[in-house]
Amino acid sequence: MRLDVFTLVPAAFDWARERRPLAAVLGGELELRIFNYRDSTPLTAGQVDDDPYGGGPGMVLRVDVVAAALEAVYGGVPEHRVIALSPQGRQLDQELVEELSLESALTVLSARFEGFDQRILDHLCTDVVSIGPYVLSGGEIPALALVDAVARRLPGALSEGSGEVESFSAALDGGLEYPHYTRPAEFRGWTVPEILLSGDHARIDAWRRENVKALS
Ligand code: SAH
Repeated sequence: MRLDVFTLVPAAFDWARERRPLAAVLGGELELRIFNYRDSTPLTAGQVDDDPYGGGPGMVLRVDVVAAALEAVYGGVPEHRVIALSPQGRQLDQELVEELSLESALTVLSARFEGFDQRILDHLCTDVVSIGPYVLSGGEIPALALVDAVARRLPGALSEGSGEVESFSAALDGGLEYPHYTRPAEFRGWTVPEILLSGDHARIDAWRRENVKALS
């Protein structure tokens, strides 16, 4: 998959490249490109945003700036899905993550300050996605959340099998994963369910199935 992120803070993505899941899939299943709107802005002095029409606080990311950024990279609006990140969008859930992870190319647009000029959402994007019903200061954390969640679905991103049975996965009927324990078997009198120490894999499997929590 080729995943392109447009941002005003390219450095926000640096650390993630060195960690799983990105480190495991970059150069293979995933090509991640980070673009700065300022590098292709048609305005002077790297300007990318402007005062809102009608007045009010904050700055709004300009439609001509985003159009120029898409033009510079794709020669126009790309054929593949272009996702704008906004708290007002469709909420990202595991179903959408799995759907997106099957795409061969994705573009993710982030904004800062007051957000996007509405015409960007209306004319340059196919999807508007939120990572949750709260307002962050910029789209970098949402973009990292989306990129991480999508990357861990790609082949080779995780150690074998670990991405199959997870909270919200089809394997658990969308429920929450059973609890995990590791050594020590007892700490401050807090013990581990006896069954997990038994080595009896049929009983362990049954215990795990019983301890999947359905989402209401
Ligand atoms: N004025 C807007 C909020 C803008 S927040 C409003 O009230 O709806 C600035 C930018 O941060 C947004 O344009 C978006 O790119 C990003 N952002 C903030 N919260 C987000 C969220 N929950 N999900 C996705 N993107 C978000």
